[in-house]
Amino acid sequence: DPLERLCVHESVDEKVPIESFAAALDDLPVPVEIVGDDAGLDETDAVASYRPRDGFIDAGWVHCIRAGYDEFDTEAYEDAGTPLTNSTGIHDTTVGELVVGYMVMFARRLHVYRDKQTRRQWYDPPYDRPFTVDTESVCVVGLGTIGRGVATRASALGMDVVGVRRSDASVEGVSAIYPPDELNEAIGDARFVVLAVPDTPETEGMISTAEFQHMRSDAYLINVARGPVVDEDALISALDDGVIAGAGLDVFRTEPLPESSPLWDFEEVIVSPHQGSTTNCYHRDLAELAEEIFRQYQSGEPLRNRVA
Ligand code: NAD
Repeated sequence: DPLERLCVHESVDEKVPIESFAAALDDLPVPVEIVGDDAGLDETDAVASYRPRDGFIDAGWVHCIRAGYDEFDTEAYEDAGTPLTNSTGIHDTTVGELVVGYMVMFARRLHVYRDKQTRRQWYDPPYDRPFTVDTESVCVVGLGTIGRGVATRASALGMDVVGVRRSDASVEGVSAIYPPDELNEAIGDARFVVLAVPDTPETEGMISTAEFQHMRSDAYLINVARGPVVDEDALISALDDGVIAGAGLDVFRTEPLPESSPLWDFEEVIVSPHQGSTTNCYHRDLAELAEEIFRQYQSGEPLRNRVA
């Protein structure tokens, strides 16, 4: 059945201004409606949502406006035959630039200077602390959209980039690719380890005590993937004990990061509140992708980003 309506679930407003997102979809040949949990849906409806809801399964097509669709029960969608799509493919620049920001901040010590600035303190760092990212090494774990966005930018900064990937096909800007079972070798020489994998049963807790021990003591962990990919207690111990130098974190086991978390207190930890993808154009980028998949559905083509 062709789609006759696109329902934008109210949870979209958690990520982008919902009216702007709906307005950016107004080229579609069907009505676009903002709906709550009580929308009666059938197979002529499409849904775009940030969060999953049980009732979505009755729609003709469900689109998650996030790249990480781990909150959605893909098995239920497969059993029901309802196609589910996600929003990967658009975060190379946004999250890539965030990762560059973390690396340059740590190297050039901007986070420390800003901390001092809030106390009006002029400050000379210990001579051995500042460095340049140029000629340093980065290991990118997961070479999808974000991982490649990081790799090309890091390579442009003069860094040596290695990566972890399930296939051994080469990737632009990456000098060596390791399979997931050689993770410890891959991260062993890196000044920065960047996580860009989805949250799946294989990646959950992928970075824990043993991995921190394989990392250099002057290495920084950067997690822009999902909180559960890192064993957060092991990370806190590794930071406390100086097993690694620091961490740039956009994602956490519990979000918002609880006020009681020790992660707030480390000078060498930069906490960003899961804003890796956020820009003033994000509603437009998300809408363009949703529109493309909508048109594919209407013409019976395979759906881009289909995950169930
Ligand atoms: P993507 O699907 O383009 O890339 C993910 C890559 O990881 C794929 O190439 C996949 O093959 C690979 N992968 C999966 N399991 C692996 C494993 N065990 N070892 C090595 N590689 C593995 O997705 P993306 O757009 O690059 O996003 C990646 C993840 O980042 C998302 O799933 C999401 O959870 C997270 N994300 C975070 C933000 C943020 O704001 N911080 C924004 C977008 C996405």
